[in-house]
Amino acid sequence: MPPKSYKVIDTWFKKKDKNGHPYSEWCKKLNDEEIQCIVCNKKIACISKGWQAVTQHENSSVHKEEAAVKLSKTQLLVSPRNIGVSCGIQSAVSLQEPKKSTVLDA
Ligand SMILES: [Zn+2]
Repeated sequence: MPPKSYKVIDTWFKKKDKNGHPYSEWCKKLNDEEIQCIVCNKKIACISKGWQAVTQHENSSVHKEEAAVKLSKTQLLVSPRNIGVSCGIQSAVSLQEPKKSTVLDA
């Protein structure tokens, strides 16, 4: 019997990882056997382990470090944030004093 082999299935990417990020946010299908991790720029071969290969990669320290940096930024962009009022334009007050003409009266 040939060893069991898996194919990459599109619905995998609709799942969400532990951090609530959809997998589609950080990995994409390359072909029927491989997934590309966008965060680490690495290929994940799924033919022998299927989805487990992705979760294993997700739990690797390399991926966690990359994801902590890159995905948090993404999330900031995605989640609605209160925009502070601080963007109001402050007119630059010129503190230049008018030139005092020192008139020496003789
Ligand atoms: Zn990764």
